[in-house]
Amino acid sequence: MQNTLQDHMQDTLLSEAQNLQAPLQSNQMRDKQQHIRIEKIKLLYQHSLTPIILSAVAGLFLVAALWTSANHQHLLIWLATTFIFACIRTWLMTQFKRANPQGSAVLKWEKPYAISLMAVFLIWSAGLICIMPRDNLTAVFILNTFSIGLAGAAISWYSPLRYLQMATISLALIPMIIVLLTLGHEETFWVGIAAICMYVSCMITSVLLQKTFNGNLELAYDLEQAKKQAENLARTDALTGLNNRRAFFDKAEPLFAYCKRSQQPISALMLDVDHFKKINDSYGHAAGDVALRNLAKLIKTNLRDSDLACRFGGEEFAVLLPNTSAEEAMGMANMLKQLMASTIIALADENALSLTASFGIAENGETVEDLLNHADKAMYAAKNYGRNHVMSYCHISKQFA
Ligand code: GH3
Ligand code: MG
Ligand code: MG
Repeated sequence: MQNTLQDHMQDTLLSEAQNLQAPLQSNQMRDKQQHIRIEKIKLLYQHSLTPIILSAVAGLFLVAALWTSANHQHLLIWLATTFIFACIRTWLMTQFKRANPQGSAVLKWEKPYAISLMAVFLIWSAGLICIMPRDNLTAVFILNTFSIGLAGAAISWYSPLRYLQMATISLALIPMIIVLLTLGHEETFWVGIAAICMYVSCMITSVLLQKTFNGNLELAYDLEQAKKQAENLARTDALTGLNNRRAFFDKAEPLFAYCKRSQQPISALMLDVDHFKKINDSYGHAAGDVALRNLAKLIKTNLRDSDLACRFGGEEFAVLLPNTSAEEAMGMANMLKQLMASTIIALADENALSLTASFGIAENGETVEDLLNHADKAMYAAKNYGRNHVMSYCHISKQFA
Protein backbone atom coordinates (compact mmCIF):
# COMPACT_ATOMS: atom_id res chain seq x y z
CA MET A 1 0.00 0.00 0.00
CA GLN A 2 2.79 2.36 1.06
CA ASN A 3 4.76 1.36 -2.06
CA THR A 4 1.80 2.16 -4.30
CA LEU A 5 1.45 5.58 -2.67
CA GLN A 6 5.17 6.21 -3.13
CA ASP A 7 5.00 5.12 -6.78
CA HIS A 8 2.04 7.41 -7.32
CA MET A 9 3.88 10.36 -5.76
CA GLN A 10 6.98 9.64 -7.84
CA ASP A 11 4.84 9.46 -11.01
CA THR A 12 3.17 12.77 -10.15
CA LEU A 13 6.50 14.48 -9.49
CA LEU A 14 7.95 13.04 -12.70
CA SER A 15 5.02 14.20 -14.82
CA GLU A 16 5.16 17.66 -13.19
CA ALA A 17 8.88 17.87 -13.99
CA GLN A 18 8.17 16.74 -17.57
CA ASN A 19 5.39 19.36 -17.90
CA LEU A 20 7.82 22.05 -16.79
CA GLN A 21 10.51 20.81 -19.19
CA ALA A 22 8.25 20.53 -22.26
CA PRO A 23 7.91 24.29 -23.03
CA LEU A 24 11.63 24.75 -22.32
CA GLN A 25 12.52 22.03 -24.80
CA SER A 26 10.17 23.39 -27.44
CA ASN A 27 11.72 26.86 -26.98
CA GLN A 28 15.19 25.36 -27.39
CA MET A 29 14.02 23.52 -30.52
CA ARG A 30 12.59 26.75 -31.93
CA ASP A 31 15.85 28.59 -31.20
CA LYS A 32 17.82 25.82 -32.86
CA GLN A 33 15.64 25.79 -36.00
CA GLN A 34 15.82 29.59 -36.26
CA HIS A 35 19.59 29.56 -35.81
CA ILE A 36 19.95 26.93 -38.56
CA ARG A 37 17.70 28.90 -40.93
CA ILE A 38 19.76 32.04 -40.30
CA GLU A 39 22.95 30.12 -41.09
CA LYS A 40 21.42 28.79 -44.32
CA ILE A 41 20.34 32.23 -45.52
CA LYS A 42 23.79 33.65 -44.72
CA LEU A 43 25.42 30.82 -46.67
CA LEU A 44 23.21 31.48 -49.69
CA TYR A 45 24.09 35.16 -49.73
CA GLN A 46 27.78 34.52 -49.18
CA HIS A 47 28.10 32.04 -52.05
CA SER A 48 25.70 33.33 -54.68
CA LEU A 49 27.90 35.78 -56.55
CA THR A 50 29.81 33.00 -58.33
CA PRO A 51 26.73 31.28 -59.87
CA ILE A 52 25.36 34.68 -60.93
CA ILE A 53 28.55 35.52 -62.84
CA LEU A 54 28.93 32.00 -64.23
CA SER A 55 25.32 31.87 -65.44
CA ALA A 56 25.75 35.21 -67.23
CA VAL A 57 28.90 33.91 -68.96
CA ALA A 58 27.13 30.63 -69.81
CA GLY A 59 24.28 32.66 -71.33
CA LEU A 60 26.77 34.38 -73.64
CA PHE A 61 28.16 31.05 -74.87
CA LEU A 62 24.66 29.68 -75.34
CA VAL A 63 23.80 32.64 -77.58
CA ALA A 64 27.03 32.03 -79.52
CA ALA A 65 26.09 28.35 -79.94
CA LEU A 66 22.59 29.20 -81.23
CA TRP A 67 23.51 32.28 -83.28
CA THR A 68 23.30 30.52 -86.64
CA SER A 69 20.12 28.56 -85.94
CA ALA A 70 17.89 30.82 -83.75
CA ASN A 71 16.18 34.17 -84.15
CA HIS A 72 18.75 36.90 -83.39
CA GLN A 73 16.24 39.32 -81.92
CA HIS A 74 14.88 36.65 -79.53
CA LEU A 75 18.41 35.69 -78.51
CA LEU A 76 19.42 39.29 -77.76
CA ILE A 77 16.24 40.04 -75.78
CA TRP A 78 16.74 36.89 -73.72
CA LEU A 79 20.43 37.70 -73.14
CA ALA A 80 19.65 41.29 -72.12
CA THR A 81 16.94 40.13 -69.67
CA THR A 82 19.22 37.55 -68.05
CA PHE A 83 21.93 40.24 -67.72
CA ILE A 84 19.52 42.70 -66.10
CA PHE A 85 18.47 40.06 -63.54
CA ALA A 86 22.09 39.09 -62.94
CA CYS A 87 22.75 42.77 -62.12
CA ILE A 88 19.72 42.94 -59.79
CA ARG A 89 20.91 39.83 -57.92
CA THR A 90 24.48 41.13 -57.71
CA TRP A 91 23.09 44.39 -56.23
CA LEU A 92 21.06 42.32 -53.71
CA MET A 93 24.17 40.39 -52.63
CA THR A 94 26.16 43.60 -52.13
CA GLN A 95 23.28 45.16 -50.16
CA PHE A 96 23.29 42.14 -47.84
CA LYS A 97 27.04 42.40 -47.38
CA ARG A 98 26.77 46.12 -46.64
CA ALA A 99 23.88 45.71 -44.19
CA ASN A 100 25.66 42.78 -42.50
CA PRO A 101 22.48 41.74 -40.63
CA GLN A 102 22.85 39.72 -37.45
CA GLY A 103 20.58 37.28 -35.62
CA SER A 104 16.91 37.23 -36.57
CA ALA A 105 17.38 40.30 -38.85
CA VAL A 106 18.88 37.86 -41.40
CA LEU A 107 15.48 36.17 -41.79
CA LYS A 108 14.06 39.26 -43.53
CA TRP A 109 16.52 38.70 -46.39
CA GLU A 110 15.13 35.29 -47.31
CA LYS A 111 12.14 36.61 -49.27
CA PRO A 112 14.05 38.94 -51.64
CA TYR A 113 16.58 36.16 -52.24
CA ALA A 114 13.89 33.59 -53.05
CA ILE A 115 11.83 35.93 -55.25
CA SER A 116 14.81 37.13 -57.29
CA LEU A 117 16.10 33.57 -57.71
CA MET A 118 12.70 32.30 -58.88
CA ALA A 119 12.48 35.20 -61.32
CA VAL A 120 15.91 34.37 -62.75
CA PHE A 121 15.07 30.68 -63.18
CA LEU A 122 11.73 31.56 -64.75
CA ILE A 123 13.51 33.78 -67.28
CA TRP A 124 16.15 31.14 -68.00
CA SER A 125 13.64 28.36 -68.42
CA ALA A 126 10.87 30.29 -70.26
CA GLY A 127 13.60 31.99 -72.31
CA LEU A 128 15.11 28.67 -73.41
CA ILE A 129 11.70 27.58 -74.67
CA CYS A 130 11.12 30.89 -76.47
CA ILE A 131 14.47 31.01 -78.24
CA MET A 132 14.27 27.33 -79.20
CA PRO A 133 14.18 26.81 -83.01
CA ARG A 134 11.81 23.80 -82.91
CA ASP A 135 12.67 22.56 -86.40
CA ASN A 136 16.38 22.26 -85.55
CA LEU A 137 16.97 19.15 -83.43
CA THR A 138 20.63 20.00 -82.74
CA ALA A 139 19.58 23.34 -81.22
CA VAL A 140 16.83 21.58 -79.22
CA PHE A 141 19.36 19.14 -77.75
CA ILE A 142 21.83 21.97 -77.01
CA LEU A 143 19.08 23.72 -75.04
CA ASN A 144 18.16 20.51 -73.24
CA THR A 145 21.79 20.07 -72.20
CA PHE A 146 21.70 23.60 -70.82
CA SER A 147 18.52 22.84 -68.84
CA ILE A 148 20.17 19.80 -67.27
CA GLY A 149 23.23 21.95 -66.50
CA LEU A 150 20.95 24.49 -64.84
CA ALA A 151 19.36 21.76 -62.69
CA GLY A 152 22.83 20.56 -61.70
CA ALA A 153 23.81 24.12 -60.72
CA ALA A 154 20.57 24.39 -58.70
CA ILE A 155 21.41 21.21 -56.78
CA SER A 156 24.85 22.44 -55.82
CA TRP A 157 24.30 26.16 -55.24
CA TYR A 158 20.88 26.27 -53.62
CA SER A 159 21.12 23.21 -51.37
CA PRO A 160 20.81 25.21 -48.09
CA LEU A 161 17.07 25.73 -48.59
CA ARG A 162 15.13 22.73 -49.76
CA TYR A 163 12.17 24.55 -51.29
CA LEU A 164 14.52 26.76 -53.32
CA GLN A 165 16.50 23.77 -54.51
CA MET A 166 13.41 21.83 -55.56
CA ALA A 167 11.70 24.83 -57.16
CA THR A 168 14.80 25.76 -59.20
CA ILE A 169 15.33 22.16 -60.37
CA SER A 170 11.67 21.98 -61.39
CA LEU A 171 11.80 25.31 -63.21
CA ALA A 172 14.94 24.23 -65.06
CA LEU A 173 13.62 20.84 -66.17
CA ILE A 174 9.80 20.60 -66.27
CA PRO A 175 9.11 23.15 -69.08
CA MET A 176 11.88 21.57 -71.18
CA ILE A 177 10.51 18.05 -70.54
CA ILE A 178 7.02 19.16 -71.63
CA VAL A 179 8.40 20.69 -74.83
CA LEU A 180 10.52 17.61 -75.62
CA LEU A 181 7.55 15.24 -75.11
CA THR A 182 5.20 17.33 -77.23
CA LEU A 183 7.49 18.35 -80.13
CA GLY A 184 6.31 15.36 -82.15
CA HIS A 185 9.71 13.84 -83.01
CA GLU A 186 10.58 10.34 -81.86
CA GLU A 187 14.12 11.49 -80.89
CA THR A 188 12.90 14.39 -78.74
CA PHE A 189 10.28 12.14 -77.09
CA TRP A 190 12.92 9.66 -75.88
CA VAL A 191 15.25 12.47 -74.81
CA GLY A 192 12.25 13.86 -72.88
CA ILE A 193 11.81 10.51 -71.11
CA ALA A 194 15.54 10.53 -70.28
CA ALA A 195 15.12 14.09 -68.93
CA ILE A 196 12.29 12.82 -66.65
CA CYS A 197 14.77 10.26 -65.23
CA MET A 198 17.27 13.11 -64.71
CA TYR A 199 14.57 15.12 -62.94
CA VAL A 200 13.72 12.23 -60.58
CA SER A 201 17.41 11.68 -59.92
CA CYS A 202 17.90 15.40 -59.15
CA MET A 203 14.98 15.34 -56.70
CA ILE A 204 16.31 12.26 -54.86
CA THR A 205 19.78 13.85 -54.68
CA SER A 206 18.19 17.01 -53.35
CA VAL A 207 16.48 15.10 -50.49
CA LEU A 208 19.70 13.29 -49.59
CA LEU A 209 21.74 16.50 -49.69
CA GLN A 210 19.21 18.24 -47.48
CA LYS A 211 19.46 15.50 -44.86
CA THR A 212 23.26 15.71 -44.79
CA PHE A 213 23.23 19.49 -44.83
CA ASN A 214 20.71 19.79 -41.98
CA GLY A 215 22.54 17.09 -40.02
CA ASN A 216 25.82 19.02 -40.30
CA LEU A 217 24.28 22.32 -39.26
CA GLU A 218 22.44 20.70 -36.32
CA LEU A 219 25.66 19.04 -35.20
CA ALA A 220 27.57 22.34 -35.41
CA TYR A 221 24.81 24.06 -33.40
CA ASP A 222 24.72 21.32 -30.74
CA LEU A 223 28.52 21.45 -30.40
CA GLU A 224 28.44 25.24 -30.04
CA GLN A 225 25.73 25.02 -27.37
CA ALA A 226 27.58 22.26 -25.49
CA LYS A 227 30.76 24.37 -25.58
CA LYS A 228 28.90 27.42 -24.22
CA GLN A 229 27.29 25.29 -21.51
CA ALA A 230 30.64 23.77 -20.50
CA GLU A 231 32.26 27.23 -20.40
CA ASN A 232 29.39 28.53 -18.33
CA LEU A 233 29.60 25.62 -15.91
CA ALA A 234 33.35 26.11 -15.54
CA ARG A 235 32.73 29.72 -14.50
CA THR A 236 29.68 29.28 -12.28
CA ASP A 237 29.47 28.05 -8.72
CA ALA A 238 27.26 24.96 -8.92
CA LEU A 239 25.57 25.45 -5.54
CA THR A 240 24.68 29.14 -5.68
CA GLY A 241 24.77 30.02 -9.38
CA LEU A 242 27.10 32.95 -8.60
CA ASN A 243 30.40 33.53 -10.39
CA ASN A 244 33.15 31.28 -9.15
CA ARG A 245 36.60 32.71 -8.34
CA ARG A 246 37.90 32.21 -11.87
CA ALA A 247 35.02 34.08 -13.51
CA PHE A 248 35.14 36.71 -10.79
CA PHE A 249 38.80 37.56 -11.37
CA ASP A 250 38.32 37.51 -15.17
CA LYS A 251 35.55 40.10 -14.87
CA ALA A 252 37.06 42.00 -11.95
CA GLU A 253 40.30 42.99 -13.72
CA PRO A 254 38.68 45.01 -16.55
CA LEU A 255 36.13 46.51 -14.12
CA PHE A 256 38.93 47.61 -11.79
CA ALA A 257 40.98 49.01 -14.69
CA TYR A 258 37.96 50.91 -16.02
CA CYS A 259 37.29 52.54 -12.62
CA LYS A 260 40.93 53.52 -12.28
CA ARG A 261 41.01 54.98 -15.79
CA SER A 262 37.85 56.98 -15.30
CA GLN A 263 38.98 58.03 -11.80
CA GLN A 264 35.97 56.45 -10.14
CA PRO A 265 36.22 54.93 -6.67
CA ILE A 266 35.92 51.14 -6.48
CA SER A 267 35.25 49.13 -3.30
CA ALA A 268 35.32 45.49 -2.30
CA LEU A 269 33.06 43.77 0.18
CA MET A 270 33.88 40.40 1.73
CA LEU A 271 31.51 38.51 3.95
CA ASP A 272 31.89 35.27 5.85
CA VAL A 273 28.94 33.54 7.52
CA ASP A 274 29.31 33.35 11.30
CA HIS A 275 29.55 29.95 12.95
CA PHE A 276 28.45 28.17 9.81
CA LYS A 277 29.99 24.94 10.97
CA LYS A 278 27.43 24.85 13.79
CA ILE A 279 24.60 25.03 11.24
CA ASN A 280 25.99 22.01 9.43
CA ASP A 281 26.47 20.21 12.72
CA SER A 282 22.96 21.00 14.00
CA TYR A 283 20.83 20.63 10.85
CA GLY A 284 23.01 18.65 8.47
CA HIS A 285 25.06 19.51 5.38
CA ALA A 286 21.99 19.66 3.12
CA ALA A 287 20.44 22.34 5.35
CA GLY A 288 23.77 24.22 5.18
CA ASP A 289 23.52 24.11 1.38
CA VAL A 290 19.97 25.51 1.50
CA ALA A 291 21.19 28.35 3.75
CA LEU A 292 24.07 29.17 1.36
CA ARG A 293 21.75 29.18 -1.63
CA ASN A 294 19.38 31.55 0.17
CA LEU A 295 22.21 33.87 1.11
CA ALA A 296 23.51 33.93 -2.48
CA LYS A 297 20.00 34.82 -3.70
CA LEU A 298 19.76 37.61 -1.16
CA ILE A 299 23.12 39.01 -2.28
CA LYS A 300 22.24 38.70 -5.97
CA THR A 301 18.85 40.37 -5.70
CA ASN A 302 20.05 43.27 -3.59
CA LEU A 303 23.05 44.37 -5.60
CA ARG A 304 23.11 46.75 -8.55
CA ASP A 305 23.52 45.32 -12.07
CA SER A 306 27.01 46.77 -12.26
CA ASP A 307 28.20 45.04 -9.07
CA LEU A 308 30.14 41.80 -9.36
CA ALA A 309 29.52 39.06 -6.82
CA CYS A 310 31.11 35.67 -6.36
CA ARG A 311 31.26 32.75 -3.98
CA PHE A 312 34.85 33.14 -2.89
CA GLY A 313 34.91 29.73 -1.21
CA GLY A 314 32.95 27.74 1.39
CA GLU A 315 30.70 30.21 3.24
CA GLU A 316 32.62 33.26 2.09
CA PHE A 317 31.40 35.73 -0.56
CA ALA A 318 33.10 38.65 -2.30
CA VAL A 319 31.54 41.62 -4.08
CA LEU A 320 33.23 44.25 -6.21
CA LEU A 321 31.40 47.59 -6.17
CA PRO A 322 32.39 49.93 -9.04
CA ASN A 323 31.86 53.66 -8.68
CA THR A 324 31.35 53.15 -4.92
CA SER A 325 33.18 54.88 -2.08
CA ALA A 326 34.04 53.19 1.22
CA GLU A 327 31.12 55.00 2.92
CA GLU A 328 28.67 53.76 0.29
CA ALA A 329 30.11 50.24 0.53
CA MET A 330 29.65 50.43 4.29
CA GLY A 331 25.99 51.35 3.69
CA MET A 332 25.55 48.36 1.37
CA ALA A 333 27.19 45.99 3.84
CA ASN A 334 24.90 47.25 6.65
CA MET A 335 21.89 46.82 4.38
CA LEU A 336 22.90 43.18 3.66
CA LYS A 337 23.52 42.60 7.38
CA GLN A 338 20.01 43.81 8.23
CA LEU A 339 18.42 41.84 5.41
CA MET A 340 20.17 38.68 6.63
CA ALA A 341 18.88 39.25 10.15
CA SER A 342 15.31 39.65 8.92
CA THR A 343 15.38 36.71 6.50
CA ILE A 344 14.12 33.45 7.95
CA ILE A 345 15.32 30.43 5.99
CA ALA A 346 12.89 27.52 6.11
CA LEU A 347 14.52 24.09 6.43
CA ALA A 348 13.17 20.54 6.35
CA ASP A 349 11.28 19.16 9.39
CA GLU A 350 9.81 22.59 10.11
CA ASN A 351 13.19 23.93 11.16
CA ALA A 352 14.14 27.50 10.35
CA LEU A 353 17.15 29.74 10.87
CA SER A 354 18.57 33.12 10.05
CA LEU A 355 22.22 33.80 9.30
CA THR A 356 24.62 36.45 10.46
CA ALA A 357 27.91 37.30 8.83
CA SER A 358 31.01 39.37 9.40
CA PHE A 359 31.67 42.00 6.73
CA GLY A 360 34.88 43.68 5.62
CA ILE A 361 34.99 46.53 3.14
CA ALA A 362 37.87 48.36 1.47
CA GLU A 363 38.26 51.10 -1.11
CA ASN A 364 40.84 51.46 -3.90
CA GLY A 365 44.13 49.55 -3.64
CA GLU A 366 46.77 49.09 -6.34
CA THR A 367 45.32 45.87 -7.76
CA VAL A 368 42.16 43.76 -7.41
CA GLU A 369 44.11 41.35 -5.18
CA ASP A 370 45.19 44.28 -3.00
CA LEU A 371 41.65 45.49 -2.65
CA LEU A 372 40.33 42.03 -1.76
CA ASN A 373 43.17 41.45 0.70
CA HIS A 374 42.27 44.67 2.47
CA ALA A 375 38.57 43.74 2.58
CA ASP A 376 39.55 40.29 3.88
CA LYS A 377 41.62 41.81 6.67
CA ALA A 378 38.70 44.07 7.61
CA MET A 379 36.40 41.02 7.59
CA TYR A 380 38.68 39.15 10.02
CA ALA A 381 38.74 42.27 12.21
CA ALA A 382 34.91 42.12 12.24
CA LYS A 383 35.14 38.45 13.32
CA ASN A 384 37.51 39.38 16.12
CA TYR A 385 35.23 42.23 17.10
CA GLY A 386 32.58 39.65 17.95
CA ARG A 387 31.00 38.78 14.53
CA ASN A 388 27.74 40.06 12.95
CA HIS A 389 29.57 43.30 12.32
CA VAL A 390 30.80 45.53 9.45
CA MET A 391 34.38 46.77 9.50
CA SER A 392 36.16 49.09 7.08
CA TYR A 393 39.82 48.61 6.15
CA CYS A 394 40.54 52.33 6.52
CA HIS A 395 39.50 52.13 10.21
CA ILE A 396 41.66 49.10 11.05
CA SER A 397 44.63 50.41 9.06
CA LYS A 398 44.43 53.68 11.04
CA GLN A 399 44.35 51.61 14.24
CA PHE A 400 47.58 49.84 13.28
CA ALA A 401 49.24 52.97 11.85
P1 GH3 B 1 33.41 31.62 11.70
O1 GH3 B 1 32.33 32.38 12.35
O2 GH3 B 1 34.73 31.76 12.40
O3 GH3 B 1 33.51 31.89 10.28
O4 GH3 B 1 33.02 30.09 11.89
P2 GH3 B 1 32.58 29.10 10.81
O5 GH3 B 1 32.04 27.87 11.46
O6 GH3 B 1 31.65 29.75 9.86
O7 GH3 B 1 33.91 28.83 10.01
P3 GH3 B 1 34.72 27.54 9.76
O8 GH3 B 1 35.79 27.92 8.78
O9 GH3 B 1 35.15 26.91 11.02
O10 GH3 B 1 33.71 26.55 9.06
C1 GH3 B 1 33.20 26.78 7.80
C2 GH3 B 1 32.27 25.64 7.49
O11 GH3 B 1 31.60 25.83 6.26
C3 GH3 B 1 32.99 24.31 7.42
C4 GH3 B 1 32.53 23.72 6.12
O12 GH3 B 1 32.14 22.37 6.28
C5 GH3 B 1 31.33 24.53 5.75
N1 GH3 B 1 31.13 24.58 4.34
C6 GH3 B 1 32.00 25.01 3.41
N2 GH3 B 1 31.45 24.87 2.18
C7 GH3 B 1 30.23 24.35 2.36
C8 GH3 B 1 29.17 23.94 1.46
O13 GH3 B 1 29.24 24.08 0.24
N3 GH3 B 1 28.03 23.44 2.01
C9 GH3 B 1 27.90 23.28 3.35
N4 GH3 B 1 26.76 22.78 3.81
N5 GH3 B 1 28.87 23.60 4.21
C10 GH3 B 1 30.02 24.15 3.72
MG1 MG C 1 32.39 31.38 8.66
MG1 MG D 1 35.18 30.94 6.20
